[in-house]
Amino acid sequence: MDFCKMKDFCEMDDFQKKCKTYGIDLSEEQKKKFMDYYELLIEWNSFMNLTAITDFDEVILKHFVDSLAVCQAPVFIKKVKESKVSLIDIGTGAGFPGIPLKIIFQDSKITLLDSLNKRIKFLDAVIEKLNLKNIETIHGRAEDLAGKSDYREQYDFCVSRAVANLSTLSELCIPFIKKGGYFVSYKSEKIREELSAGRNAIDILGGKIEDVLEYQLPDSDMNRSLLLIRKEKNTPRKYPRKAGTPAKEPLL
Ligand code: SAM
Repeated sequence: MDFCKMKDFCEMDDFQKKCKTYGIDLSEEQKKKFMDYYELLIEWNSFMNLTAITDFDEVILKHFVDSLAVCQAPVFIKKVKESKVSLIDIGTGAGFPGIPLKIIFQDSKITLLDSLNKRIKFLDAVIEKLNLKNIETIHGRAEDLAGKSDYREQYDFCVSRAVANLSTLSELCIPFIKKGGYFVSYKSEKIREELSAGRNAIDILGGKIEDVLEYQLPDSDMNRSLLLIRKEKNTPRKYPRKAGTPAKEPLL
C-alpha cells in the first residue's frame, strides 16, 4: 500500500470514531464505499464544479459526517431501524446528505433530486461504482416534481442542505412528505432568524416545528443546526408555486 493510501486508511479510523458519536459503526464495506465516493468526487471535481472542499479530512468532516448528523435525531433513527423508509434529498448537488445516508441505511429507498443535469450524471456514476441499490436520481426542479402524483406526499423524510432559506426551502420540500413524515433541514448556526421568518410558511404548508437540534461537528468547533419539521396536514394544492417563485417571493 502506498503512503497516501495508508494515510487515508488511518483517517478512515478517525471517520469511524466520529461516526460512533452518532451511534454508527462503519463496516469495512461501508468504509470502502466512502473511499470510492471520495475518489470519484475528486476526479469529477477536476472537470466540473461539485465542491470547494477537496482535502480528505475536510470532506470527511464537512460532507460525510455532516450528512450523517440526522442520526442524532431519535425520531429518524427509530423510523429508519423499524422499517424501510423513503427519503428524498432536494438540491442534493454532489450527493449530500443523500449518498452518505444511503451507504449507511442500505434498506432505505432514496431519491436524489437536482436541477443541474451534470451533477445528476456524477451521481449516476457514484451509484454505479458503489453498487447502490434502491436509489434513483432525478433531474428537475423541486417546484415541478412536487406537483406530480408519483412524488407528491409520498416520502417519510425529505432532507435538504445548503439550498435556500427556510421559508423557500419549506415550500420546495414539505409538499413531498406524507402526513406524519418529517422535513429535516440542515442548517449552519444562524438558525434563529430564519426560524422566525420561516415559521408562518411552515404552518401554511402543513408542517409543525417539532425540534431544533444545535450541535458541533465531532472534534471541531463548527456549529450546526438541524430543524425537524413534522407534517401534520396535507399541503394545499397551490404549493409549491411555479418554478422560481418560492425563491423570489418567499412565503411570509
Ligand atoms: N445539498 C448539497 C450540499 O449540501 O453540498 C448541494 C448544495 S448546492 C449549494 C445547492 C444545490 O441545489 C445545487 O446543486 C442546485 O442545482 C440545487 N437546486 C437549487 N434550487 C433547486 C430547485 N428548485 N430544485 C432542485 N434543485 C435545486
